[in-house]
Amino acid sequence: MNIIVVGAGIAGLSTAWALTKRGHNVTLLEQGAIPNLLAASGDHHRIIRRAYAKGSGYGPLITEAYEAWDELWEDLGESHLDARGFLCISREEGDEAEQYLEGMRAGDFGVDFVEAVEAARRWPFLEPDTFRYAFFSKEGGALHCRRIASGMADWLRANGANVYEKSKVTAIHEEEGRVDLESGETLTADRIVVTAGAWVLKLFPQLGSDLTTYRTAVVYLRPPADLQTAWDSAPVVLDVGGNTDGYIIPPSGDGGLKFGSGLHKVETSDAEWNRDPVEGEGEAIRNLFAPPMARIAEYEVTDVVTCAYTFTKDERFTAAEFGKCLVVSACSGHGYKFGAAVGRRAADAVEGNGFEAFRHWLGGEI
Ligand SMILES: Cc1cc2nc3c(=O)[nH]c(=O)nc-3n(C[C@H](O)[C@H](O)[C@H](O)COP(=O)(O)OP(=O)(O)OC[C@H]3O[C@@H](n4cnc5c(N)ncnc54)[C@H](O)[C@@H]3O)c2cc1C
Repeated sequence: MNIIVVGAGIAGLSTAWALTKRGHNVTLLEQGAIPNLLAASGDHHRIIRRAYAKGSGYGPLITEAYEAWDELWEDLGESHLDARGFLCISREEGDEAEQYLEGMRAGDFGVDFVEAVEAARRWPFLEPDTFRYAFFSKEGGALHCRRIASGMADWLRANGANVYEKSKVTAIHEEEGRVDLESGETLTADRIVVTAGAWVLKLFPQLGSDLTTYRTAVVYLRPPADLQTAWDSAPVVLDVGGNTDGYIIPPSGDGGLKFGSGLHKVETSDAEWNRDPVEGEGEAIRNLFAPPMARIAEYEVTDVVTCAYTFTKDERFTAAEFGKCLVVSACSGHGYKFGAAVGRRAADAVEGNGFEAFRHWLGGEI
């Protein structure tokens, strides 16, 4: 089949990869560069971890996610996973970290439970009086997104796919299988896959009742000099407890120490709205992390990176079909880790092997 994929974030790159491997004639269209630094997949790194709340369905899917990444590493000839494990810190009864612990235990996925004093000894950037306990899993780490994107674009080109950067799609005619480009050109295909991330509502506004777009930002920090070594060898911190919805990626690959919080987001109708950081934004994000981090004011802001992403109401992933077009939205703030697996499953759906099954899988319902 001739297949057009619109958007070269991790979902589009992975779908193009899986379809190219199956012998299809694939054209991948990206409005920016690959990686596009404005896209959700465009930052240095994202976390992969098995921890999800009990019954969420996504925890068990991580096995497939890892298998798909392994298949990709084999094709790329190198791995872009820094498997440094993850750490969770509980500050309040029933907080997200505690829900993750219950999920890990329910799935019989091993964790090391660590008392607060011992945790602060092992990870001296923590303030021991400010949290209840920590737990650690060896399975988890950081995926190096920009290296993955560049590697996949090279692989696609080397394997016969057409990869076009700076090629913005302005309209999709789903019944005819045609796309219009900003350049004035049109392209036709047997099937179209749209993986446009936070821009999807520009092409399919009718999905606005299911999807909400937010503008967010993360902060890169230089820690106090005497804590640098501890950070260099630290696991990713999946949750810092309480209601902070805060995560941390230590220096890894080309990216430095990064803090991000789900509290720091604002709804927008435009993925490119307000993309320059505002004065004091980095410090505001940083300060959300004390407690449980010690000496937070000593962390120097080195960069603030804004981002846009889409959520469904229940923070799951979803897909829709319109004529010859399959629209995939696998974000809700946690989709990168499933990227390669989403691509393989989207390829199944494009080949006619069960759109409903794909949607259920995306929803974590398998
Ligand atoms: C701050 C933050 C932290 C996150 N942390 C994690 C994490 O730790 N772990 C995790 O698993 N997930 C995480 N996520 C979620 C993850 O980043 C997303 O699920 C994932 O990157 C989405 O990939 P995507 O390909 O669907 O979308 P995107 O990466 O947004 O890609 C969409 C692409 O489509 C292109 N495009 C859009 N419209 C057009 C058009 N009209 N024509 C051509 N091209 C177009 C865009 O330029 C873009 O490159 C996080 C997200 C954010 C924002």
